Amino acid sequence: MKNIAIIGSGPAGLMVADQLSDAGMKVTVYEKRKSAGRKLLIAGSSGLNITYDAPLEELVAQYGAPHEMWDKMIRAFTARQWRNWIEELGIPTFVGTSRRVFVEDMKAANLLKLWQERLVTQGVEFRFGTEWGGIAETKQYDATILALGGGSWEPDEKPLRWVKILKDLGIKFNDFTASNVGYQVAWPAKFLAESEGKPLKTIVLTSSRGSKKGELMVTKYGLEGTPIYFLGEAGEVRIDLKPDSTIEDLVTRLESAKENLSPMRRVQKMLKLSPVADSLIFHMTEPALLKSLTPSEMAERIKSFPLTLTATQPLDEAISSGGGVDWSELDENLRLKKFPKIYCIGEMIDWDVPTGGFLLQGCVSQAAWVAKAILGQ
Ligand SMILES: Cc1cc2nc3c(=O)[nH]c(=O)nc-3n(C[C@H](O)[C@H](O)[C@H](O)COP(=O)(O)OP(=O)(O)OC[C@H]3O[C@@H](n4cnc5c(N)ncnc54)[C@H](O)[C@@H]3O)c2cc1C
Repeated sequence: MKNIAIIGSGPAGLMVADQLSDAGMKVTVYEKRKSAGRKLLIAGSSGLNITYDAPLEELVAQYGAPHEMWDKMIRAFTARQWRNWIEELGIPTFVGTSRRVFVEDMKAANLLKLWQERLVTQGVEFRFGTEWGGIAETKQYDATILALGGGSWEPDEKPLRWVKILKDLGIKFNDFTASNVGYQVAWPAKFLAESEGKPLKTIVLTSSRGSKKGELMVTKYGLEGTPIYFLGEAGEVRIDLKPDSTIEDLVTRLESAKENLSPMRRVQKMLKLSPVADSLIFHMTEPALLKSLTPSEMAERIKSFPLTLTATQPLDEAISSGGGVDWSELDENLRLKKFPKIYCIGEMIDWDVPTGGFLLQGCVSQAAWVAKAILGQ
């Protein structure tokens, strides 16, 4: 029986603990916090999206380089296997909009509780409040799996001490950057008073990185939401506020008002956009320009509303982070080439994907892949 240490009790650490203890290994999980899975719980507060319902090749394609590695890792624990695993714990899952897969109660607390109970039943020992101190602590184990997470949501530890430990060991580490993150917009106070906390539904965001349909949430500081997470960039972006209508449709409807209305009243009366879209047009268009817009100029503006994103929200508030341990430091089993008894998994490696369940899927697939390597499967 091998003696295994896992450092970090996020989804990556907990999944490798499950696979190895299930196969009869002696597993100890070390966690610097007083309890397990803090970020998983945070993720659950906004609807826990566990994976993405797509054919394997399509799922793998989301992860980019190194493609061959991702192909093997996702095959080691597919979206279907991950869903089955959760359902075996007694938690139903369902496919929601845009093929995202969720746990039925949308939260992580129950999943985390049942997951930990299962691990304890399988003999896993948890040591909470224990921060990893470095390579010396790995000597007594046959293998140590680092599952230390990414750079976001760590406001109390700056810089992260484990990053320094790895850098001092000569491991190439690409500094963390905010990803899947909101962007700041200089909103006028009157717009915020009307629209803060409200969604701009069914829009298409276009930046130099492409176009994406979805929903944006207006926040005090700017915008959050999937289209921004996929395509956000500092500078001017465009929002199509009425993606299901052509410019010609909009002009026809604006011109069909019989009364002599101001351009804004015409929009409100004839187009029935959402209150947030109306508020955006009203407060984010120069008053003189707003008064002078012809129906065709207004339609063009609605189809391509200009908005300046000033900067990302800080790393501490990002859903995930880019950067991490460079792939060149890892062999095909995610083992550190310089320290072959130490593995890395999860968000601490330099990979990143948009939200949509891909992050959790990537973490648990990497965990299963490493477990197979250790078990010699
Ligand atoms: C607001 C929000 C919403 C999200 N929503 C989703 C979603 O719906 N779907 C999705 O797929 N993903 C989502 N994510 C991302 C997802 O939660 C992460 O990708 C995932 O938790 C990463 O798992 P991990 O195991 O690699 O790291 P983590 O979950 O970060 O776990 C790492 C663990 O290691 C511990 N640790 C760190 N350093 C040490 C040390 N030196 N010694 C001991 N222990 C240490 C940490 O305390 C932590 O418990 C969301 C994230 C956030 C913040």
